[in-house]
Amino acid sequence: MGLFAARAIEKGMRIVRYTGERVSKEESLRRKKERGAKHIYSVALDEDWEIDGDNPQNDARFANHSCAANCELILEEGELWLKAARDISANEELCFDYGFSLAEALEHPCRCGAKNCAGFIVAEPSRKWLRRKVPNPRKVFD
Ligand SMILES: [Zn+2]
Repeated sequence: MGLFAARAIEKGMRIVRYTGERVSKEESLRRKKERGAKHIYSVALDEDWEIDGDNPQNDARFANHSCAANCELILEEGELWLKAARDISANEELCFDYGFSLAEALEHPCRCGAKNCAGFIVAEPSRKWLRRKVPNPRKVFD
């Protein structure tokens, strides 16, 4: 599953709003314990609050992570939006950097297929380091 562009999209355009229940960090941690590694749709708004995007109304939740993302998830005026990070062609898959920490990455293999794929869903600043430390990530998950 994924989210795909129905038509060409210009860089900088807001594509779809990332919606969900606004929950405290504490409640989000409780849900993470309940859902385990499937708890991937929670996005931080600030230090205290998150949006739990795990609901059928949130079409943006279908956007996958990629190590070569063409979108970014941005916070504007208290709302989360999937925004085009570059010009996107019709039928291209829409993806963004989930921004996972190193600890979260170890629960989430990445199979995005990008030339620079780290093998883990991890925030861009950690990818180069992780590629050096774990040159064969498939062994971690097998
Ligand atoms: Zn990847």
